[in-house]
Amino acid sequence: MLKTSKPTTLREIAKGVYVYIGGGGLTNFGLVLTKDKPVVIDSDMRVRNRFIKGMRQVTRKNTGIVFNTHHNFDHTSDNRYHALRGAVTIGSEFTRREMGPEMETKGVAHHLRNGFNLERRAPNLGIDPPMVTFRDRLEIRYGGRLFRIIHFGHCHTKGDSVIWMPEEKILFAGDLIAYRSHTASSQGNFDNWRQALNRLKKFPARRFVPGHGELPPRGGGIVEENIAYFKNLRRRAAAALKKESSPAKAAALVRMPECARWTRPHNLATNARNMARHLKRKNKG
Ligand SMILES: [Zn+2]
Repeated sequence: MLKTSKPTTLREIAKGVYVYIGGGGLTNFGLVLTKDKPVVIDSDMRVRNRFIKGMRQVTRKNTGIVFNTHHNFDHTSDNRYHALRGAVTIGSEFTRREMGPEMETKGVAHHLRNGFNLERRAPNLGIDPPMVTFRDRLEIRYGGRLFRIIHFGHCHTKGDSVIWMPEEKILFAGDLIAYRSHTASSQGNFDNWRQALNRLKKFPARRFVPGHGELPPRGGGIVEENIAYFKNLRRRAAAALKKESSPAKAAALVRMPECARWTRPHNLATNARNMARHLKRKNKG
């Protein structure tokens, strides 16, 4: 028997469409029930128990499809769990290509530092990049629903893709957008990212689901907020570069007081430095 109590970790945003909100700026995931098996958007082995517990409160079936919005560990590391239970994993070609290097080097080291005992798990970690890859977009009709997975090019990472459900008007944006949470730009491309956000604005989405941060109110305000974040970051980094010519020193001057309560505040210093470096390179070019 399915439990009748409300799932603790999932929020239903449309009939059968759930969002798992990581909380504190941790990664969000999607869970979409279909007439066939459920579809999962992104996976992270570190929160498997919580995610599966929530999933079991709304379905007894195993996952049919996993979509990966991009390659980062916190969006792909539990692909194998679902694949071993029969799921097909789908992501862009770049997602597949970038997963290996991240798992083997930087990504694992990063998560080791952040207290997850990967050392113990690493030998069995298993890199499970998406089985089905695509270059620009893929349309999937599954279990009575239509999913469009669209590659946006190099923005937050090289493989950034969104999952657009045109019938429900829901867009899972991965880390192209965050809600009141400082995004991570270390692998990013600011110019493409800005263009991608302008492109996202044109989707007639009732709901944008961010890769990190709380569930935003309905509508496109979240995209505008992300655009404003980068605009302010750029403007302030440019002003700081007039006082300090070294990007590192200029970045130390950048403040974002309007984002004082946002989650993942540690990302601000890196974002300011990356932006200052980016502007300096542009000025030279
Ligand atoms: Zn992420």
